[in-house]
Amino acid sequence: MTRRAAIVGAGVVGSLMAWRLNQRGWRIDLFDRDEHPSQNCSHAAAGLLDSVGALEDAEPLIHSLAAPSLDMWASIVDTLSEPVFFQRRGTLALVHPNDREQLDQWQQRIRRLNPQAAMEWLRGESLRELEPEIDSRFQEGLYFPMEGNIDNRALLRALHLQLRHMGTQMHFGTPVLSLSANTVETSTAEHSYDQVVDCRGVKASAPGLRGVRGELFIVRAPDVELHRPIRLLHPKHPIYVVPRPNHSYVIGATQIECEDYGPVTVRSALELLSAAYVIHSGFGEAEILESVTQCRPAFTDNQPRTFFREGVLHVNGLFRHGFLVSPKLTELACELLECGQLAPPFRELETEATQCA
Ligand SMILES: Cc1cc2nc3c(=O)[nH]c(=O)nc-3n(C[C@H](O)[C@H](O)[C@H](O)COP(=O)(O)OP(=O)(O)OC[C@H]3O[C@@H](n4cnc5c(N)ncnc54)[C@H](O)[C@@H]3O)c2cc1C
Repeated sequence: MTRRAAIVGAGVVGSLMAWRLNQRGWRIDLFDRDEHPSQNCSHAAAGLLDSVGALEDAEPLIHSLAAPSLDMWASIVDTLSEPVFFQRRGTLALVHPNDREQLDQWQQRIRRLNPQAAMEWLRGESLRELEPEIDSRFQEGLYFPMEGNIDNRALLRALHLQLRHMGTQMHFGTPVLSLSANTVETSTAEHSYDQVVDCRGVKASAPGLRGVRGELFIVRAPDVELHRPIRLLHPKHPIYVVPRPNHSYVIGATQIECEDYGPVTVRSALELLSAAYVIHSGFGEAEILESVTQCRPAFTDNQPRTFFREGVLHVNGLFRHGFLVSPKLTELACELLECGQLAPPFRELETEATQCA
């Protein structure tokens, strides 16, 4: 008999869970409190897929989820009927000439954590060949050829359309009031399932979960031609510029320890926009299309997790890495659901945040 699952939350995690379980023969109901889920973290993201770059400030576990996820994105995007902008032209990390030491230290840390990591130190002409328009003050950079970026909003739209075609029941505009291992309660009904999966991001009921504020801008810059995500390393204010089609760029992102959804502050705007202007003065003439604020779902140690709690399967805590790691993490969550436990080295993903040191 066909098994039925309810997935609560249609961000990148819930949508990919729905897609994967559907492919494994489950019948899926996907719930989201929003009519058009666009007030969530996944809609706010920049879509940067920096699997090696993540080693800078994340645990090696993130890298071991990120590396296979990049390959998985290529095949997921191929199966979607709507086109989604996804590219693997690498990413480039720059530093101010005065902070060169930081680039050195970063490279050493990455080498130590992953001697196999694909990266190239570029200087002078070879840097300009890759990105001819970056400001002339930048003479050195680290290039990560295997990384990429994806248009997260187009992806979510295409995934939701595909899920409808696959026969998923979409209950959008339907806040879930409570859930258990086998039931989902909304304002109009109580529904029964073989399995309920909680993908509510920051709003999930998982111990140790918090929201970490992030802000970014989306701009249109006809005078700027950057081909790949550029990260500007800085001890206090690291930023990135991520290209999207039609000369639009995402400039992000702050990371502030509070769950505050208020508008972008002047301080953050100054830091983000002036750093982008340093990378390319053409950003001076860019039009600001949107300023975005959201909170990233994070456990105490900023590591993602998938675990059972009172029979509900949780997939959460993707922090800064939701798009980077969700293809592999949701595959593992399906394995956990169907096999009862994960194989090493991924077993630590099953540990609840409260059990961490
Ligand atoms: C500014 C910023 C930039 C980022 N940039 C990147 C990046 O470049 N690369 C990257 O990999 N990651 C990035 N991230 C992180 C990434 O966005 C998150 O890790 C990811 O979106 C988390 O996805 P999620 O599905 O867990 O949560 P969400 O996207 O928040 O989805 C949760 C869903 O649950 C729904 N929900 C909540 N409560 C209920 C309820 N009671 N009933 C029904 N539905 C409910 C919500 O409406 C929402 O749609 C960024 C985050 C921010 C804030």
